Amino acid sequence: MSEVRNVIIIGSGPAGHTAAIYAARANLKPLMFEGMVRGGVPGGQLMITNDVENYPGFPHKITGPDLMTAFRDQSINQGAEVQTEDVNKVDLSPGSPFTVWVGDDNVEYKARAVILATGAQAKWLNIESEHALKGRGVSACAVCDGAFFRNQDVMIVGGGDTAMEEAMYLSGICKTVTLVHRRESFRASKTMQDRVLANPKIKPVYNSAVDEVLDVAKGEVTGVKLKNLLTNEVTAVAVTGLFVAIGHTPNTDLFVGQLELHDNGYIKTQPGTSRTSVPGVFASGDVQDFVYRQAVTAAGTGCMAALDAERWLAGQGGH
Ligand code: NDP
Repeated sequence: MSEVRNVIIIGSGPAGHTAAIYAARANLKPLMFEGMVRGGVPGGQLMITNDVENYPGFPHKITGPDLMTAFRDQSINQGAEVQTEDVNKVDLSPGSPFTVWVGDDNVEYKARAVILATGAQAKWLNIESEHALKGRGVSACAVCDGAFFRNQDVMIVGGGDTAMEEAMYLSGICKTVTLVHRRESFRASKTMQDRVLANPKIKPVYNSAVDEVLDVAKGEVTGVKLKNLLTNEVTAVAVTGLFVAIGHTPNTDLFVGQLELHDNGYIKTQPGTSRTSVPGVFASGDVQDFVYRQAVTAAGTGCMAALDAERWLAGQGGH
């Protein structure tokens, strides 16, 4: 039987690494699995973010990959063990130790506590020009990238609360915001819709879909071709930024049936804590957060998870 570790951390974004730093400093000798599921690079959503200007402590901005390299170095310097392996399967049946299987050979690891920090992924429209211009005017996070489009014309796609919230946020920064939705009415809550519709800077466009983002040849966004889904008419709208806000998918496939999840698939945690429905299993970062979704809030909940795990282990007879 394999050695039983104190704590295994699954996921290597800001939440996972902050959990690792705190757990290592509490002498828990944490083992982190940094997966390669997303585009073959560990480190989470910041690995596909160019400039980060809202992470406190970096007054002159930092790139997403540089920030994640710093997080990772800090975890290792504090004594965390980081293994680059995808987790294939977990057994989180109540009653520790828990089991995690990783890598091509499905190697088994056991731990008395587990911290889940597998994050979430933005949903994309999945058209070629969108992918080609990601990070060059196409973004899935207004709070992260809105400031690059100060006093410019931008477009946002989506009809849920995120799209409304991002449209309001962008309206405070940009010249105009064209809000494109594929149906006749928004899905968002009435309050959010009312706020958006009363905002003179936001122009809603219904029954429409993005046909193409211009201009791939130039390597920057100069406009968007919109297709009216009722008439099939295509019109070009001049914008310098396109924000896709059509939802996120939490990376919870591994945990379905083992932990309580919200209806939207995110892990349920007890309010004000990182505790999941299984004692000894903690969740942090975007895998349990569909409201804030920021690197700094992910880091904050990673810290909470390490402290909760440390206290839980202490209550089980120390470590
Ligand atoms: P939602 O799933 O609620 O909305 C997604 C929107 O994107 C829908 O309007 C949907 O259209 C549209 N959409 C989906 N796929 C496509 C596509 N391929 N092309 C074009 N449009 C598409 O996601 P949100 O991120 O907005 O919200 C997720 C959850 O988080 C919700 O429960 C929401 O209430 C909550 N939330 C709460 C906030 C708050 O309380 N402050 C803030 C933000 C989110 P359609 O309507 O036709 O399906």
